[in-house]
Formats: sequence, structure tokens, C-alpha cells
Amino acid sequence: MTSAVTLQQVSCVFHSGGKEVRAVDGADLEVQAGEFFTLLGPSGSGKTTCLRMIGGFTLPTSGRILIHGEDVSQQPPYARPVNTVFQDYALFPHMSILDNVAYSQMVRGVDRATRDRRAQELLAMVRLPDVGQRKPAQLSGGQRQRVALARALINQPRVLLLDEPLGALDLKLREQMQVELKNLQRELGISFIFVTHDQHEALSMSDRIGVFNKGRIEQIATPAQLYRAPATRFVAEFVGAANLLEGAGARQLTGHASAMIRPELIRLGDAPGARARGTVAEAQYFGAFWRLRVASQAGPELLADVPATGSVPAVGQPAHLHWDAEAVHPLEAAA
Ligand code: ADP
Ligand code: MG
Repeated sequence: MTSAVTLQQVSCVFHSGGKEVRAVDGADLEVQAGEFFTLLGPSGSGKTTCLRMIGGFTLPTSGRILIHGEDVSQQPPYARPVNTVFQDYALFPHMSILDNVAYSQMVRGVDRATRDRRAQELLAMVRLPDVGQRKPAQLSGGQRQRVALARALINQPRVLLLDEPLGALDLKLREQMQVELKNLQRELGISFIFVTHDQHEALSMSDRIGVFNKGRIEQIATPAQLYRAPATRFVAEFVGAANLLEGAGARQLTGHASAMIRPELIRLGDAPGARARGTVAEAQYFGAFWRLRVASQAGPELLADVPATGSVPAVGQPAHLHWDAEAVHPLEAAA
């Protein structure tokens, strides 16, 4: 496997209003060639700054960035074999769609016939073969998104950087574009580095995910590893729903000082053999399942996702909770 992008102890410190902001703090990262890698984290956790440093729009305060083995830390954006799709697409409003897509080829002095043909190929690839003569304002949000993608791909970058590219789209369209983007990445075989704050998006699209928290990468893992075995409480809570148990209640229920149980691994059952007993405090309907909030006699409240096809106790009724020993994921105790 060859590494497409490597970050070695990369930090970025901003100074604003006399204060020091450590936007990215000692990031170590290796994205493989052909990999769909996602930077996931809450707003302000350093994802965009990290992506901008890879693209060359922000220079690291310290550390090294390599792209396909070459140190690009001090290179300007245009000299790097990467391209970026920004959240607002940044299309030129007065130019036709074809010219927008062909723009960087024009800047490089490629002749009109060649660059138009190439732009038309790219438009066909993003399934917009007939919009070349229109202006950006005459397209829907989803179409503009695809044009931005075509434009970013025309110079055949080896790495494509995408900063919350689906953020402006409504849910249905976003889900459709998630599938399309993933398919496109697979077809092209280039690396995508994709930024999102949406854990569902990250889990469903990525080969691997790096979870950001306050400028630090807390864990790098596949979606399944992140979900089943989060390394920290932050990851457990940020990715998926989680019962986080701490202290005496945790010891009594799980035998650990700190542990996590996913709600879908908790079942309703009979009183004998139940691992926790309690009363339903809240029941929320999700279509495929009910999410019950159960106040346990041991102390902690537990979320249990139970199939909507079976019978479900009402609020105020007793609930007997069961789970397999493997459902318990121990965590490091909180400091
Ligand atoms: P994210 O993309 O995860 O929301 P950002 O990388 O945009 O996070 O920001 C990380 C932190 O760095 C935030 O605290 C943000 O306010 C700060 N920051 C980002 N860009 C600048 C800048 N140009 N000047 C000062 N602070 C910045
Ligand atoms: Mg951002």
C-alpha cells in the first residue's frame, strides 16, 4: 500500500484577539492511495483547518505534510496534486457551466476544443451531460454540487479534498449524493479526504474515519471498529447512540468502572436473569424501533432500542433488561 497523504505531527496555531487557538494539535495521519478517508468531528474541532493545510491554503505552524511521498509543507495550493470542493461550491455565476468546469484547464493554457471536450466528458461522468450552456443560477443545489465536483476533477488530482460538500442539500438529496460520491470515488480510484460533522454520513461512506475533538485526533479506525470499539468516551458518544456508564452503577451493571453499551444490544425479557431492572421513563418511536429510557434500580438510566414489531411496555411500566457479556465495551475511567 502506498500512502497518498501523510501528516506528521502537524499543528496549526492561530492568534486572534491576543488569544492563541490551537486549531490542530499534533495530527498524525496516513491516507492510503484510493482510500475514502473522513475527518469527523463537531463544529470547531479543526477539520477544515486540517483540510486547508493538506490543500495548501493554510500553512502548518509545525509538522510535515507529504503527498505521495513528496514533502509539500511549503508548496502553494496550485503546485500540489490535490484539488478541493468547497461547501459553497464557489462556481463563477457569470460563466457557463462548461466554462466553469473547464476553468482550470483554461488557466493552464489548454486550447478551447480540448478543454471543452474534456469538460463535457466530466459533465457526463457526473450525469449532467446537457447543462453545459446554462449558468449556475439555472441549476438546482444538487446539480451545482455535481458541477463543482466535475470542476475539481478536471485536472485529474490524485487526491480530492471535500469540505462538507453535501451540507447545503436536503436530506433525501444528501443521501442520494452520498451513494453517488462513493461510487464515483470507487470508479476513479483516487483518494478522497472528506470532512463532515455528520456521523451517519461518515459511517456509511468511509473506508476509515479520523475523529477530531478540540484539534486532536482521538481515534483513526474503520466505521465498524469506531462503532464497536470506540477508544474514548468522546468517540463513543459522538458516533452513534451510547449508554455511558461510570462509577458505582457501572460496576454493578457491567463489572467495570467505565463502560459503554449500545442501545440496540439491550433486549427486553423476563425478570429472572435480567441484568438490570427498572421502570420505563420515556418511550420514543423511530419507526423501525422504540427507544426506551429505563430508570434502573442500580442507578443509571439506560437507553434500549427494541423492535417495534414486538410488544413494548408503556411509560411507568416495569422493564427487565438483558444483554450479552460481549455487549459491554470497557472504557478508560473518566479523570
Ligand atoms: P471545523 O472545520 O471542525 O468546524 P475549524 O478548523 O474551522 O473547525 O476551526 C478550528 C478552530 O480554529 C476553531 O476554534 C476556529 O474558531 C479556529 N479558527 C479557524 N480558522 C481561523 C482563523 N483563520 N483565525 C483564527 N482562528 C481560526
Ligand atoms: Mg469546517
